[in-house]
Amino acid sequence: MNSKLKLNDRLYGFTVTDIQEAPDAGGRLIRMQHDKTSARLCWMDNGEENKLFSVGFKTLPEDSTGVFHIIEHSVLCGSEKFPVKEPFVELLKSSMNTFLNAMTFPDKTLYPVSSRIEKDYLNLTEVYLDAVFRPLILQDSRIFYQEGHHIDTTGEKPKYKGVVFNEMKGAMSDVDRIAEAGMDKLLFPDNCYQYNSGGNPENITDLTYEMFIDAYKRSYHPSNSYFYLDGDVPLKKTLELINEYLEEFNLSDNIPEITIQKPVTGEDTMLFEATDEDSKAVVCFGKIVCGWEDRCKVLATHVLCEYLADSNESPLKRAVLSSGLAEDMELYLLDGIAQPYLMMMFRGTSPENAKQLREISEQAIRDVLVQGIPQDALTAIVNQMEFRQRQLPEPQGLYRASYALSSWLYGGDPLLYIKTGEAISELRDSIHEGFIETLAREYFADMSDFSKLYLMPSRTLGEELNEAERNKLGNILSEMSAEQRASLDKMNLELEKWQHEPDDESNLAAIPRLELNDIDKNPVFPDTKVSEISGVKILYHKLPSNGVVYLTCYFPLTDLTLEELTVFSLMPELYKELPTENYDVINLAKEIKTYIGFLSFDVDSYARDDDKSSCTPCIKVQTAFLEKNLSQAEHLIYEILFNTKLNETERIRELVAQIDEEGKRFAVSSGNKLGAVAARSHYSSQAAVSEATSGYSFLNYLHKLNTNFDMHITEFIDLISRVNKSIGRNGTVMSVTSSTEIDLSGFIDRFSDNPAKPATAQYTSALPQKLGIAVPSSVSHAVSAYDLNQDKIRPDGSLSVAANIISFSYLWNEIRVKGGAYGASISSNRSGAILCHTYRDPSPSRSLEKFAGISNFLSEYIDNPGNSLNGFIISTLSQTDPLVSPGVKGRIADDFYLSGLTNDDRIRLRNDILETTPDTLKKWICIFRKLAEAGSICVVGPESELEQIDNITVYRI
Ligand SMILES: [Zn+2]
Repeated sequence: MNSKLKLNDRLYGFTVTDIQEAPDAGGRLIRMQHDKTSARLCWMDNGEENKLFSVGFKTLPEDSTGVFHIIEHSVLCGSEKFPVKEPFVELLKSSMNTFLNAMTFPDKTLYPVSSRIEKDYLNLTEVYLDAVFRPLILQDSRIFYQEGHHIDTTGEKPKYKGVVFNEMKGAMSDVDRIAEAGMDKLLFPDNCYQYNSGGNPENITDLTYEMFIDAYKRSYHPSNSYFYLDGDVPLKKTLELINEYLEEFNLSDNIPEITIQKPVTGEDTMLFEATDEDSKAVVCFGKIVCGWEDRCKVLATHVLCEYLADSNESPLKRAVLSSGLAEDMELYLLDGIAQPYLMMMFRGTSPENAKQLREISEQAIRDVLVQGIPQDALTAIVNQMEFRQRQLPEPQGLYRASYALSSWLYGGDPLLYIKTGEAISELRDSIHEGFIETLAREYFADMSDFSKLYLMPSRTLGEELNEAERNKLGNILSEMSAEQRASLDKMNLELEKWQHEPDDESNLAAIPRLELNDIDKNPVFPDTKVSEISGVKILYHKLPSNGVVYLTCYFPLTDLTLEELTVFSLMPELYKELPTENYDVINLAKEIKTYIGFLSFDVDSYARDDDKSSCTPCIKVQTAFLEKNLSQAEHLIYEILFNTKLNETERIRELVAQIDEEGKRFAVSSGNKLGAVAARSHYSSQAAVSEATSGYSFLNYLHKLNTNFDMHITEFIDLISRVNKSIGRNGTVMSVTSSTEIDLSGFIDRFSDNPAKPATAQYTSALPQKLGIAVPSSVSHAVSAYDLNQDKIRPDGSLSVAANIISFSYLWNEIRVKGGAYGASISSNRSGAILCHTYRDPSPSRSLEKFAGISNFLSEYIDNPGNSLNGFIISTLSQTDPLVSPGVKGRIADDFYLSGLTNDDRIRLRNDILETTPDTLKKWICIFRKLAEAGSICVVGPESELEQIDNITVYRI
């Protein structure tokens, strides 16, 4: 907070129009307006080391072609001052950014960048300004064809190709996305929210280059722009830079405005793809509840939703589940738009049940209102909400940029959604005045004004969509004159030629970059102080944490087999959802929310970096709370771990059905993660445990238990009882991150003096080395893994530099740019595990072939004396010192300690990276060849794509 700015001060074409204190963000919000163009600017002057620049535009779609999403991708593909194919990738390659991306929302597009280094921040800002205001798309249609869509005529059969086209095919395979897009259409028939701003794949192919340019020119004007700065930014330099771009524009009065939707009630049916024969329908009810300006109502509605339907035992959800009409339900508020709306989703049901589901919901609310909502339950929800608002994840400035636009974009005060302290205290007052009950009555007493959407499972939808796409393409091609066809072929050749052409050296050199000496050579790593109390090892990391204690407990499970670990992994999903000896689920939730900010249970493992054959699987409890609540937090952790009631068979049955269904959705939406754990599982004990507890093996177990519950539940319960008896002080590790050390002896005394378990155990994955996992999706994820340990080679930091070079040069170009997949990258970790993967990929078999070219690429790259390594060294370094909250810093320090690494090792890894030369990279060429020849493979995708891959075993979800 060093600025002395006053109201009406003028600098670099801007005038200060407003200054307000913003205690929740630790500073003042200074608002300015650009004199010539009326561009708006806010600066959160709070002295934060991380400096954020963001520019946003109000972008209101008029169809579902995804035009603004394609613009978002395309402006980052070259601009006047930086006329290279992808300045965005050049920055990814060579900066110390703490954030660098762009996002398209239903009514806005945002371009945020941030860095802790001033020079880096200014570099990023300049490239982004040039991108949004002077993009090459205006002259070069090839960018649109590559990022949006085009008919590819270079292969055997013509087909649609495009990065956004495939990205959205993947996104729209997710039933939840289909539901929200369907509800948007029903609730907002008269304004921009009815359209899918990301683009529906079948509409994306209707977009022409002319429509695309027209939408850009209409929306990317300074008079329609919103600049948001946060942290210790060099203000004058930033404004001077922005002004350079804005100056050449005049004021525009052609600014898009959101029309407010009058409430309407509609009904619709849509399909989603399902391979499972017994898939059931999803029924959704939706209703607009207020405008963006009603901050208190928005917050109160979140509280109401959480009270009514957070867990199976919450009153509304319990009533629905007990009726047997649906297997699961969710109730939430979709906000961040001008008119937030309620969404009620019933899974595992049928459209015939809709009327009864409504009646049961109305009745449940009547019952709630008769009994009254307990104030302490609401207060507990608000407490946790407040805790989360005060512990925003990093980069915090990014969250504030998006909160500011939740009101600013609609003409409101940008602080409205940032001033959380004020809003929460208003919310507390309103609870005492019965506001939550009033809302419950307003929304649910008579639900006839909710719109209804039915989502029906279809086993043929994927094929039908493919067929429709082929027909559309066939018609377009058959209606083309010879001349038009010739020009399409010519465009394809030009596109291909352009994609293959390297960028001009002098243009590449124009991209502003950091030098190695701009970087702090020795970052400060948190210390780990190790002590022991009654057999429990305590790790303490002293970090400023603003009164919050981050406590993590690791209880070893080395006495379990891999199969038992899979079975045990269900338990973390049930903790907190089942009653304990001393609390029913409602009261347990209330206690947790009152005293604990965050509490999670997982099965995880740790291992020494140099030991691939064994590891220590464990129950990991992670929690964060205010120091004054230490004893309550300890009590609740113990209560949940040891006193959760396992004789609640019907409740467990219900939860297992829900978790099984969630697992299937996860396989579609996060197929890349599923593929990664499977492919990695063959190379270390730790990776085998990760697969068994979170991968295909776990999903398969869930499905088995769900379909044959009575047969398998006893095995589960017996195992949990056995594990509970085995947990105690011996072998347990606890870690604390806080400003001052806390005394855990009372907590440790609660635990028994259990017999010691082995320190480590050995595990081997039983999955096939070449695996396909068939899922109902229209895109795939191809993964290949390998490990240096196979060749007894020691990893060093230069391997990560090699991986960065390959990701941003070879894979980005071959798989994303030329192959049309949304993403592709290769990574290595410090113990020598290598993972190469594609994301939302239209042709995984082609990608696997491309993996074979990695080693040749690297060899040529190293041999070319024109290729500098400095940029890659810098971007690799930035990954070793990420901008994270104190809690995450503590967890990273835990990981280092438990892997047997010291801070000196961290510095050595850093130095390896800094000292990377072409020579140190050479040794990895043969390793990448091995990856392609002998690495394990897992492809997650539609059956039709898996069939095209040789020698793989196909499993089904
Ligand atoms: Zn995208």
